[in-house]
Amino acid sequence: MARASLDYLRQQLEELERAGTALHPRVLELHQAARTRFDGRDVINLASNNYLGLAAHPRLKAAAAEASMEYGAGSGAVRTIAGTMTLHRELERRFAEFKGAEDALMFQSGFTANSGTVAAILSKEDVIVSDQLNHASIIDGARLSRAEIQVFPHKDWAAADRLLDETKDRGRRQLLITDGVFSMDGDIAPLPDLVQIAEKHQAIMMIDDAHASGVLGPGGKGTVAHFGLDPSRVDIQVGTLSKAIGVLGGFIAGPSHLIQWLVNRGRPFLFSTSAPPGVAAACIAALDVIRDEPERIDRLWTNTALFKAGLHDRGFDTGMSETPISPVIAGEETKAVELSHLLWEEGVFTPAIVFPTVARGQARVRTIVTADHTEEDLREALEAFEKVGRKLGLI
Ligand SMILES: *Cc1c(COP(=O)(O)O)cnc(C)c1O
Repeated sequence: MARASLDYLRQQLEELERAGTALHPRVLELHQAARTRFDGRDVINLASNNYLGLAAHPRLKAAAAEASMEYGAGSGAVRTIAGTMTLHRELERRFAEFKGAEDALMFQSGFTANSGTVAAILSKEDVIVSDQLNHASIIDGARLSRAEIQVFPHKDWAAADRLLDETKDRGRRQLLITDGVFSMDGDIAPLPDLVQIAEKHQAIMMIDDAHASGVLGPGGKGTVAHFGLDPSRVDIQVGTLSKAIGVLGGFIAGPSHLIQWLVNRGRPFLFSTSAPPGVAAACIAALDVIRDEPERIDRLWTNTALFKAGLHDRGFDTGMSETPISPVIAGEETKAVELSHLLWEEGVFTPAIVFPTVARGQARVRTIVTADHTEEDLREALEAFEKVGRKLGLI
């Protein structure tokens, strides 16, 4: 019989169930695609981060398979001992070039790239000035660093400016940090203003481009390129290999001394085994595909415009989105859960996002279109939204 020590978790889970906020992830039974099968149901998939349709692209699959056959299934060690392979270094060179940075470093995930980097470059005397809607991995990194955390209202660069002013002290380092594209709202950080105030205060400027790499700016180079900024004005660019790139991992791009410092002090880099060769090879292939098939990014944005206009014309509230992420705001938690459920019944998969991931009264379903959706997929999804939206009195 199980011991009683963990019984409190059962009670806490029951509370989640009663509140309707317990998570029961749907199971994907085929490959990640615009139309695929979850939990035995064929659906139009508006839930993945597979922006460019690379997760199951033939060139990525072939690269992963070939590298696995040649170099094995695993890397066998952490990067700093015996787990740095030629493929890791090649990928890092390619990402440095992609981002216009001196060098880059691969992490096991975007999450560890953020948390490991913020924790490695600051200490408890320092200050972090962070957008209210920044990703959980930034928040965890900030906590691990033990620096003072000052949060500014979403996108309010004037407030960030004031916080940098108020926390200025001789010898105290300051980090200004923002997501490039905000994952729950799909809006874009006011990077030119943030960069300017970081320069004014001589603060470190760091941007998390998890939802922007491969999506925003010419060639999908991210938020810095989207605004036409010189990459040298942003100290640290974070990217994930898990979203538009279609595989798994994270990376940091920046000056060589930053990268070398992270090799020495980035704890996930030092204490957790590196990515398998198949993963690194597939990421390199993804960069090749992004270069060779620029029409994917064009299709992503054509689809984004079509879908957003369709939601808007039908009277849905899509918040402040400017990217392929479109929230459809339902308000009450139960309404968002109902919206997601009824759409599922109509063959459209789009998850409900509720408190604490978003503020109360801002519950929503979050849609993400990809380059792989056809016009027919999107029109069919919009019809389902219209039918269900009327039923729920949202439009
Ligand atoms: C998804 C996400 C991450 C984490 O990336 P993973 O590679 O999935 O760990 C970090 N930051 C933001 C803004 C994200 O949306």
